[in-house]
Amino acid sequence: MIQTFADAAAMVAALKPEEPVYCYRPHELTRRARAFVDSFPGEVLYAVKCNPEPLVVRALWEGGIRHFDTASLPEIAEVRALYPEAGCYYMHPVKSRESIRAAYDQHGIRHYVVDHPDELEKLSDCTGRAGDVVVMVRLATARGAAVYDLGGKFGCTVEQGAALLSAAKDRGLRAGVCFHVGSQCLTPTSYLAALKLVRQCLDMAGVEPAVIDVGGGFPTEYVGSDAPPLGDFMEAIRQGLNGIRRPADCCIWCEPGRGMVASGASLVVRVEMRRDGFLYLNDGVYGSLCDLKFPGIHLPMRVVRPGGQPSAELAPFGLFGPTCDCYDQLPGPYMLPADVREGDWIEIGQAGAYTTATRTRFNGFFAGHAVIVQDEPFLPTAPMRPNEAARLAAAAE
Ligand SMILES: *Cc1c(COP(=O)(O)O)cnc(C)c1O
Repeated sequence: MIQTFADAAAMVAALKPEEPVYCYRPHELTRRARAFVDSFPGEVLYAVKCNPEPLVVRALWEGGIRHFDTASLPEIAEVRALYPEAGCYYMHPVKSRESIRAAYDQHGIRHYVVDHPDELEKLSDCTGRAGDVVVMVRLATARGAAVYDLGGKFGCTVEQGAALLSAAKDRGLRAGVCFHVGSQCLTPTSYLAALKLVRQCLDMAGVEPAVIDVGGGFPTEYVGSDAPPLGDFMEAIRQGLNGIRRPADCCIWCEPGRGMVASGASLVVRVEMRRDGFLYLNDGVYGSLCDLKFPGIHLPMRVVRPGGQPSAELAPFGLFGPTCDCYDQLPGPYMLPADVREGDWIEIGQAGAYTTATRTRFNGFFAGHAVIVQDEPFLPTAPMRPNEAARLAAAAE
């Protein structure tokens, strides 16, 4: 049975954990799921890769999520093990022939993303040109104000997309269009711009879409990130959809990951040593904190010291993870109490997204413990860095 505590401080007081501990907030996960389900004009698919923990999937299901963006057979199997009736969609643009066959024959998957003619060919071959397949054409979007840009790896141009739509139609397959504006996208207009590309692509191909999928990318609150409210994104999406002619039964989907689950967990780590302005932690880049390596991802942190009060004065610190590898460091700077020391714990907030998912056992370290906490999510308060949105906007010009 997973233990429940009032908050991270109560967990630390009780357990004095030597290992990193995930503190999940199922109530917050359920609330975020509901916020998406209530405000999105279509079906909300949870992007499983963001945090595949069963506890997370269950809390989201509780909030009304019934469909899942799955990118591999194991992800499909994990979701179906919890909920056999869950809707699963194969949203990886590059799949092995074996996995397409297994997904089609054994798991009943009917929606597959493609962004290249060879993948469409593969899909036809491996499903025996079945007429019930829906080909989801993935468009590349303009480089926008997102922290992560997926455009360089996946997605095709409007022209290539139109050719793929036409080819699918020629094979008697239904087709849809999807995109991903990039993760932690801070500009609602990115969705509007992407939906303009969708319209151009559909017009060029003269195809009626079975699905329009606006992907993930919805931001969460990081330190200094200035994320617009979810409603602004939904408004931009509604506007973009208004400009697209589509049949009445056309499905509208989104695939949030980060924006739905980041606030649903904190991570509690311990300081094992301090060397001047650097702290050696028991978790790091090869564990839960891989995502902090990328620019613009700056999670809120606070010291937990049972029976003591850390100093109110803050100082900048760099962080080292536990492995003996030089890549395992986070220069920050992270603002923490000036007297932070060995034996202190640090609660890292907004740690529900891309944390458990990217853990390794490198050097024998593994953040495998989890509890439930009942307090409100630990969000950033005062910005401690120059406005991230402004920096990204400048960089995008
Ligand atoms: C990663 C991913 C998502 C989720 O992205 P977030 O930025 O976490 O919302 C959605 N769709 C696809 C295809 C993805 O690869």
